[in-house]
Amino acid sequence: MPDITNTGIIDAISQQSAGVRLELEHVSKQYPGQNAPAVEDFSMDIRPGELIMFVGPSGCGKTTTMKMINRLIEPTAGSIRLDGKDVLSLNPNELRRHIGYVIQQIGLFPHRTIAENIATVPKMLGWSKARITERVDSLLRTVQLDPALFANRYPRQLSGGQQQRAGVARALAADPPVMLMDEPFGATDPITRERLQAEFLRLQAEIGKTIVFVTHDFEEAVRMGDRIAVLSERSRIEQFDTPANILAAPANDYVASFIGRGAAIKRLALVRVTDATLSPNILPGAGQVPSDATLRDALDMIVLTGAPSVTVVDPDGTPMGALDHAAISAVLGAEAATLGATAGQATLGQTAVGQTAVGQTAGAPASEAGSPA
Ligand code: ADP
Ligand code: MG
Repeated sequence: MPDITNTGIIDAISQQSAGVRLELEHVSKQYPGQNAPAVEDFSMDIRPGELIMFVGPSGCGKTTTMKMINRLIEPTAGSIRLDGKDVLSLNPNELRRHIGYVIQQIGLFPHRTIAENIATVPKMLGWSKARITERVDSLLRTVQLDPALFANRYPRQLSGGQQQRAGVARALAADPPVMLMDEPFGATDPITRERLQAEFLRLQAEIGKTIVFVTHDFEEAVRMGDRIAVLSERSRIEQFDTPANILAAPANDYVASFIGRGAAIKRLALVRVTDATLSPNILPGAGQVPSDATLRDALDMIVLTGAPSVTVVDPDGTPMGALDHAAISAVLGAEAATLGATAGQATLGQTAVGQTAVGQTAGAPASEAGSPA
């Protein structure tokens, strides 16, 4: 009775809705009739509750790798374990009900209301009507769509960003321990996209799912990821590390070219102002940033105000100290040294309104030629 066993195992996995370990071992996919495999010997160990970004150019195998996790595509070789259990031994339909899946095209059912869309998996799981209604309401609020306004609308009556949020709500409906997100914000405009990213990070801080998130946008990867896998053809892992480590020390020219220009400026967004040495020399008329701001925020404020420094204030608004260019530069230098960067230290260059020019890390090629983006 494999189905009964399956249900038991999957129930046990989904009890751990806060995220489970996900291991891929020597996974390959050879599509029939293709010369080369789409994914070749892919291995990765993802910790419970980690948000992992796959970044790579179109056609490198990101979607194929992801779809093997929920068995929308069957691997040709290798093994995939969810919470220690081999997913290939589980019933694929059952498995998919316990893995949230969000795709770029959103994939909402056009002839079902938003509430019906979100209720899809709970219905299949046989939840009671009352439980489903309660869940749909709470999820709509979680993704900041007012249930009174949106529950009974059809997808076409929502903006792209709202549909995207409804898609995320649907994927979260059965509280799956694992979420697979394939360029979920790709179709939205830059401002909506930033909002969705910020909302999703806030949500993830609460729910702590194990997430594989595909993007071709390196900025998005840096912003969202606990770790980033930079992929090349056949889903080959060129580097798998934290955003800060990848920016400080790209493993090779491929990764460096993928980062593109301005690695230092991207790293600034990962360091808090309180990690810099604040000076007591507070200038009247300087801009202010809160103590949880990043160095990037501080630099933006310096550029915006034209003052030589920015004042860091604590939550009560009391000035803690001042930060100038040199102090910001010093943090980048120190961080690069701590991380054992071999690529040389980044140096801050001239800044001008609207454009912050930053010295290139030595490891990154100045030319965009051969850039996979
Ligand atoms: P990505 O998501 O990184 O853009 P995909 O995983 O979709 O890449 O595709 C990887 C490679 O596999 C590409 O060369 C693509 O053409 C090929 N491929 C994808 N799906 C199929 C399929 N169903 N049959 C044959 N080849 C496919
Ligand atoms: Mg894809």
